[in-house]
Amino acid sequence: MAEIAALAAPGVRELQPYQPGKPIEELEREYGVSNAIKLASNENPLGPSPRALEAARGVLADIARYPDGNGFALKSKLAARHGVRPGQITLGNGSNDVLECVARAFVTPENEVVFSEHAFAVYPIVTRAVGARAVVTPAVNWGHDLDAMLRSINARTRLVFIANPNNPTGTWLDRSVLEAFIAGLPSHVLVVVDEAYFEYVTEADYPDTSRWLDRFPNLIVTRTFSKAYGLAGLRVGYGLSSEAVADMLNRVRQPFNVNSVALAGAYAALGDGAHIERSVHTNSEGMRQVVSGAERLGLEHIPSVGNFVCIDMGRAAAVAYESLLGRGVIVRPVASYGMPNHLRVTIGTRDENARFLEALKAVVELGLAGLK
Ligand SMILES: *Cc1c(COP(=O)(O)O)cnc(C)c1O
Repeated sequence: MAEIAALAAPGVRELQPYQPGKPIEELEREYGVSNAIKLASNENPLGPSPRALEAARGVLADIARYPDGNGFALKSKLAARHGVRPGQITLGNGSNDVLECVARAFVTPENEVVFSEHAFAVYPIVTRAVGARAVVTPAVNWGHDLDAMLRSINARTRLVFIANPNNPTGTWLDRSVLEAFIAGLPSHVLVVVDEAYFEYVTEADYPDTSRWLDRFPNLIVTRTFSKAYGLAGLRVGYGLSSEAVADMLNRVRQPFNVNSVALAGAYAALGDGAHIERSVHTNSEGMRQVVSGAERLGLEHIPSVGNFVCIDMGRAAAVAYESLLGRGVIVRPVASYGMPNHLRVTIGTRDENARFLEALKAVVELGLAGLK
């Protein structure tokens, strides 16, 4: 087997596979617990819009047919929503697929790709998979240091990934600093602004970078139906860019990368604004509940504008994670993000948050959290 591994591309050999949150069934099987809750993958605790479910069910009878490979209906609706032309949209099997298309279309082994420490795990994966060099800039206060990112750019740099807000830290960049950063990029560098949590952010200075596409031909904005829209299992996301960029992305994507059930579900989900409002409201309330609960237990957190928050558990975070699992609560360890003392918890329903806080209290009382 060792010889087979040596045949893999050099960038692939040094890759660490993406570690997903533990599935509920796996926890229940391994720990013999029942009614476990999963607050580990930033999924919408309210689930999808009922309209999306109905639309998805409605196309099941037709799944012997290939989907519309151009996603005409969904793109038309997204184009109207964002005030762009359909030719500026690239649909993806989740927005991760779009991130990968960007790397495959634009980045070669001679290039460098810049992203921040503690940033989303998919950036190093797609970078190394195409054999390029990942340049990781140190974070400031857990967030992106845009000055350091700008300084790390050279003639070999082809792409910069910005997560706004970032996962797993929940940190964000305001309109003026992000705009100045993009305006300061040389023209041979593309920038992806990953807005997977866009709908959740309620800060007044948080920018909708899709409005800047006319000014920045090197800008790619990514959005997803996996988070606030509650359709993570369907796998649909999209990129917004200039038509020239979208043309390149559409050359490398798989012909039928978004399936027909996903196309129908996402289309219907876009029509249910009330569901997004409910989801954002639930999240804002839940964030207050979780953060104040953690504070009462004497635990610090990184302020987050997403639907998740990192809590500083101290040096026993790994043990605390296991202890929470034993209490039927799945959160996300973030040691692989260079954050060994934190656990990331997704904001759930009121009841789920209460169960998490109860389990967290037990863990603190056992002396397994907050140790410096
Ligand atoms: C969840 C997430 C995504 C989206 O993943 P999908 O492939 O759309 O499910 C993208 N970027 C970040 C930062 C995320 O946290």
